Amino acid sequence: MSLFVYRPLLTATAERAVSYLESLSTRPVEPDRSAVAQLSFLDTAFPETSTSPEETIRLLDEVGSPATMAMAGPRFFGFVIGGALPVTVAAQWLATAWDQNTGLYRVTPSTGELERIALKWLLDVLHLPRECGGAFVTGATMANFTALAAARHTVLRKVGWEVERDGLFGAPSITVVVGEEVHPTLTKSLGLLGLGRDRVLRVPVDDQGRMRADSLPKLSGPAIVCAQAGNVNTGAIDPLPEIVAYAKKHDAWLHVDGAFGLWAAAAPDLRKEVAGIQEADSWATDAHKWLNVPYDSGLAFVRDAQALQDTMSIHAAYLPGSVIRDSSNFTPELSRRARGVEIWAALRTLGRSGVAEMISRSCRQARRFAAGLSEAGFEVLNEVVLNQVLVRFGDKERNERVIAAIQQDGTCWCGGTVWQGKSAMRISVCCWATTDEDVERSLAAIIRLARAEGGRLR
Ligand SMILES: *Cc1c(COP(=O)(O)O)cnc(C)c1O
Repeated sequence: MSLFVYRPLLTATAERAVSYLESLSTRPVEPDRSAVAQLSFLDTAFPETSTSPEETIRLLDEVGSPATMAMAGPRFFGFVIGGALPVTVAAQWLATAWDQNTGLYRVTPSTGELERIALKWLLDVLHLPRECGGAFVTGATMANFTALAAARHTVLRKVGWEVERDGLFGAPSITVVVGEEVHPTLTKSLGLLGLGRDRVLRVPVDDQGRMRADSLPKLSGPAIVCAQAGNVNTGAIDPLPEIVAYAKKHDAWLHVDGAFGLWAAAAPDLRKEVAGIQEADSWATDAHKWLNVPYDSGLAFVRDAQALQDTMSIHAAYLPGSVIRDSSNFTPELSRRARGVEIWAALRTLGRSGVAEMISRSCRQARRFAAGLSEAGFEVLNEVVLNQVLVRFGDKERNERVIAAIQQDGTCWCGGTVWQGKSAMRISVCCWATTDEDVERSLAAIIRLARAEGGRLR
C-alpha cells in the first residue's frame, strides 16, 4: 500500500466518476432511503492508522454515490442550479491537479491568464461594459457581497469617507433600496457589510414579483439601489430601464442581482427581457447555475474596476505584485482555487452560439412545461419569461402531497414554495443535459401523479 501513487488511484477514480455520471439519466433522481441509511457506514470512530487511498475512494463511491441527489442529471428541476458540462468537469480535474493558489499573476501565470481571458469573454457574451473589473467568487451570495462592498466604498468616498480605512462607526448614512422580493442572500450581504438586513427601503412588487417603478422612494445622500434580474420563483425581471433612470437621477449606485437572469443577455431571443441591464454599476451572477460549471462558482462585475480594486486589494512585502491582473486585488479571498478555468473551458467550448442555445433551450423547455400543465388543467401562476414555472395543484395539503409523490417517484425532482400566499411547486429548467424527451417524460410523470393524488382527495 502506498499513499503516494497517482496513476492507479486517479485512473480508477475517473472510471468510477464516469460510471456515476452515466447512471444519472436512468437512476431515480432522489436517492432511495436505504442508500441514505447506509451513510451510517461512514460514521466510524476516527481511524487510528492509515488505510490505502484505494480503499478510501472505494468507500466514498460505494456508500457516497448512491446517496447523492442526481442534481447533475437531466431531470433535476428543484432549484435554479444546473449541472456541469462534461468539459468543465474535466477542466476542474486538471486544475485540481495543478493546485494553483490563484491570487497572484506572477506566481501562477497559467491560471492568472486563463481567468483574465475568461473575464474578458464573460463581459463579451453578457454584453457588459468592457472596462468592468471582475471577481471569481464562490456564488451569487459572495458576488452580491463583493459588488456591494465596492458600492459602499464608492458612495461613501463621494462624501469624503474612507470606509475601508475608517469603518462605518460615525460614517454618513447610506440609503439602501431593495424590492420586496429581494433574494435573502442579498440582504445577508448587506448585513455582513454593516448596512443591515432590515435597514433597507423595500419597494412593493407586482404579481410577478417585479419592483413597481411607480413606488420607488425619493432619495437623498449616499444611496445604493438593488434591482433583480430573475426572481427565484417566477423568473421575473425588475423594470430595469425605469430603475436605471431613477438611480441616475438620484446619483445612486445601481447593483443588479442577476444570479441566473443575467444570462438572458447572452441569448438574442431573450436579451430584450433584460434591456438596460448594462447601464448598472455592478452585477452579481452565478456560473454554477446557468453556465453549468461545477460548484462553487459565482461572479461579481463592477463597472469601475478601480473601485473594486480599492475595496479589495491588500499589500504585503512577501506578496509579489504584477501589472497584469492580480486576481486577489478583486476578491475577498487571497488564496483560492482557479474557478475561472472551468468558466474559460465552458466558454471556449460552447462559443457564443452554444451559450445562447443552452439558455434559450432551457426557456423553451420551461414554456413547454407550462403549456403541458395548463392543458392538463393545472394552474400556472407565473408568466414564463425565463426558465421558471410555478404550478399549483390545489390547496396546501394537496400540493404538498403531489410534490412528495413526485420526489418519491424519482422520474424528476421539483420542490415547493409559497408564492404571494399560494402554495405552489417550482420547476427550474437550467441543466445543459435536459433533452426535450426528458421534459416530456417529466411532464407525463407530474401529470400522472398530480391526478392520482387528486383522486385520493375525493
Ligand atoms: C441563487 C440565487 C442567489 C444565491 O446564489 P448562490 O450561488 O447560492 O450564493 C442570489 N440571488 C438570486 C436571485 C439567486 O437566484
